[in-house]
Amino acid sequence: MKFNKHLEDITTYEAGKPIELVVREFGIDPKDIVKLASNENPHGCSPKVKDAVGNILSKMALYPDDSMIKLKDALSHKYEVLNDNVIIGSGSDQVIEFAIHAKASSSSKILMNSVTFAMYEIYAKHVGAEVIRTSSVHHDLEEFYKLYVEQKPSMIFLCTPNNPTGDAIDRNELFDFLKKIDNDTLVVVDCAYMEYAIGKDEGKKVEPKNLISAFENVLYLGTFSKAYGLGGMRVGYGIANPKIIKELYKLRPPFNITTLSLEAATVALSDEAFVHACIADNFVEMKRYEEFANSKKIDIIKSYTNFVTLCLDDTQNSTKISNELLQKGMIVRNLSSYNMNAIRVTIGTTSQNSRFFELLAELI
Ligand SMILES: *Cc1c(COP(=O)(O)O)cnc(C)c1O
Repeated sequence: MKFNKHLEDITTYEAGKPIELVVREFGIDPKDIVKLASNENPHGCSPKVKDAVGNILSKMALYPDDSMIKLKDALSHKYEVLNDNVIIGSGSDQVIEFAIHAKASSSSKILMNSVTFAMYEIYAKHVGAEVIRTSSVHHDLEEFYKLYVEQKPSMIFLCTPNNPTGDAIDRNELFDFLKKIDNDTLVVVDCAYMEYAIGKDEGKKVEPKNLISAFENVLYLGTFSKAYGLGGMRVGYGIANPKIIKELYKLRPPFNITTLSLEAATVALSDEAFVHACIADNFVEMKRYEEFANSKKIDIIKSYTNFVTLCLDDTQNSTKISNELLQKGMIVRNLSSYNMNAIRVTIGTTSQNSRFFELLAELI
C-alpha cells in the first residue's frame, strides 16, 4: 500500500522508555525502577488537583466543555492576556502540530536549532516542509538571523530553555532578534521549561504578554507537563495574536482536552506555591548533579530546566551507558539520536538522584 510520501522519511518519535516496558523486558520490580527520562515533576502535581479531579468523576458521561472557559480564564488571568489570545492543546505538542499545519507546506522552510525538541522536525515533515538547522548546539541568534536572511523560512522555532540541552536564550537578545524578523514569518517560542528558567535567572524570563504585544507574528508555548506535574493529563497552550489563534483553531479537533484534564490544569494553576516549592527543590538537587559531574570530570551543560545534560568523553559511549543503566532499572535519555555523546537526566527526588549517582559511578 502506498502512503503519503511525506511520511517516508519520518522516524517515529521515541518517547522516554515507559516503566511498564522496563518491567516487561528486564523483569525488574516496578518499585526498583526510576524514570528520569521525560522531565516530569518528581513531586507530581498539587494535592489540590487530586481532590478536584475526584469531585468531577460524576461528569464523565458528558462531553468536555469545548469552550474551555475556566482554564482559559485562569491562563488569561495568570498571563494578563485575553481569552482570544489563547489556544489549548492536548499537550503543547498539539499546538506545535497546529502551528506547522497552519503555516507551512511542501514549499516551506522551517528554521530551528541544530539540537532541539524532536517534534518540530516530525511535524515539519508531515507537511513536506524543509528543515533548516543552525550548526551551533546552543541557540546562536546571529546564526539564526544569517540563515533567516539566506533561506527565507516561513517559520522559526526557538526553544528557551532548550530541550535536550537545558540552556536558555537571554530575553533581551530574543527581543532584539524578533525585531528583525518580518511579520509574515511565524516565530514559535517554546517555553515548556520557562517556570524553571525564571526560578534561576530573571534575565531569561519571557512573558507572553510582552512578547505578543510587541510582535504579532510570535506564538508562545507553555505546558502543564513539566513544572505543573501533569504529564499524564496532556495539556499545553499557545498564546499569540488573535489572528494566529483563529487560524490554529481551524485545525483543532473538537473536545481535544478531556474534562479531567481541563479540571486538573485549572486547579494546578491555582496552586502556585506548590510549583514554586518544586522549582526551589529542583535547583537544590541540580547542585548535587553539578558536584557529581565535577567530581567525575564529566561535562555538564548549564541548565535552566528540570534536567541536566551530561556530555561524555570519548572513552564513554552514551548508548552503552544508558543501556547499562536501563538494565539496573534507571531510565535516562540517550542523546545519540541528536548526534551527541551525552545523556539527559531529569532531576528527580533526593533519593532518585542518589541512586543515579551510585549507578553511574559504578559504570564509569
Ligand atoms: C515536553 C515538551 C513539550 C511538550 O510537552 P507536552 O506534554 O506535549 O505539553 C514541548 N516542547 C518542549 C521543548 C518540551 O520539552
